[in-house]
Amino acid sequence: MPGVFIKTYGCQMNERDSEAVAAQLVAKGYTLAPSEAAADVILLNTCSVRDFAEQKAIGKMQNIAADVRKNRPDVVLGFMGCMAQSRGQELIDKLPDVDLVLGTQKFHHAADYLDEILAGRRDKIVDVAAEPGSEATIREHLLNGNAQKSVTAFVSIMQGCNQYCTFCIVPDTRGEERSRSIPDIVAECRQLVSQGVKEITLLGQIVTSYGKRENIWTAAASEARRRFSDNDALVVAEAKAPSPLRSAGAVQNGKSPFVQLLDAVHEIEGLERIRFTAPHPKGYGDDLIQAYARLPKLVESAHLPVQSGSDRVLKLMHRGYTRERFLGIVKKLRRTKPDIGITTDIIVGFPGETEDDFEQTLSLTREVRFDNAYIFKYSQRRDTPAAEMPGQVPLKIREERNQRLLKTINEIGKQKYDAFIGRRTQILVEGPSKKNPARLTGRTRCNKIVVFDGSERHRGQLLDVKITRAGSFTLYGDPAIVNL
Ligand code: SAM
Repeated sequence: MPGVFIKTYGCQMNERDSEAVAAQLVAKGYTLAPSEAAADVILLNTCSVRDFAEQKAIGKMQNIAADVRKNRPDVVLGFMGCMAQSRGQELIDKLPDVDLVLGTQKFHHAADYLDEILAGRRDKIVDVAAEPGSEATIREHLLNGNAQKSVTAFVSIMQGCNQYCTFCIVPDTRGEERSRSIPDIVAECRQLVSQGVKEITLLGQIVTSYGKRENIWTAAASEARRRFSDNDALVVAEAKAPSPLRSAGAVQNGKSPFVQLLDAVHEIEGLERIRFTAPHPKGYGDDLIQAYARLPKLVESAHLPVQSGSDRVLKLMHRGYTRERFLGIVKKLRRTKPDIGITTDIIVGFPGETEDDFEQTLSLTREVRFDNAYIFKYSQRRDTPAAEMPGQVPLKIREERNQRLLKTINEIGKQKYDAFIGRRTQILVEGPSKKNPARLTGRTRCNKIVVFDGSERHRGQLLDVKITRAGSFTLYGDPAIVNL
């Protein structure tokens, strides 16, 4: 059977989409090739958030085409994901070696399209149309290729984004917000737990907007029943549906649809931990903050993308909150869970950002003391309002601000990680460390990686370790003190 190699660029949503495509292909008899050189099909799952990510994928495809076409002319080459969606046919016009361009609502057609191309029934395929119901098609899992037990899994709960931040291309590449139903998501989570998964991360562009537009207790439930043999999961989930069933986006007992989903997932027996990403700061209502106190499986970790510390810039970005509101959320979260790990995304050099605006971002960073932050140099994206705004900041200044912010983030990160030395903390053991497979790696509830000496039988266990050393955004546990 043909071997497929998928290379993924960008966020966790993209990783999850690639996993689902790979699992669908494996189910159809494809094998997973260990490298491009050994593959009959090479797919690049692309990112459009910054121009750099697009250029990297295009450059990669040019290299692959030049390399592969010389000796193996029959290899099928494809782009999928965000850049495929936003550029469509243009990609084949630019790179005629490409056979397949698959948009973000079409991942589940990958196997059928590849079959057609490999069988010679079709030459080139470009499919970037919208497809109702596609939000519920990212559901198959590989679980480490089934070779070993996978301890953690990502579950896609929604697709698209309606926030329209002025810098962001995502509403264009991912479309309007569409959410899966609670019974459907719970059924998938239960199936994962029955296969040994202990920790689930709920995924979406803005998870706190989950279910604002649908009736989350019934939509697509029949679809889930058709696909999942585990009917009990659905019956249980549906039995918990509020009665009478309410309309789209309904708040129940003061709980937003997202918090209702957290409650439903929390009930799954055998599941140890729940995470989610990415929320929007303005989605942190009191119901979500209280969920951290109420739900023991919801770990003490929050990724809160702040983007800027200046109210003027936040307004230009169309973020929908102020610096004060953001600081208020952080304060409430820390009051509820003092040990909560808080990370963020920050854009430097947004159009019109002055030195004073940037100083406000630095001061917010010092005030919050983030555990870590992803810093992005602003990148002009086509058809976004910010691309046309006056005061585009020269690259040199964006780079310089990036360096200054990085220095502050690293200094604070070091202090925060050092503070763990000597402390006992619970980790969920995920498996061998990527850097040194002789050692094991686990994660604290506040989302810090811990490397320690252990054995394969620790995989999937919740262990108390004592932290002996802190590296750059990694903790090390003393094997002598691991509870064996
Ligand atoms: N949905 C999340 C939200 O809105 O908070 C984040 C999703 S986005 C794919 C990941 C991060 O990329 C954003 O939080 C932002 O910091 C960054 N980003 C998005 N557009 C960008 C742009 N045009 N230039 C630089 N960074 C950008």
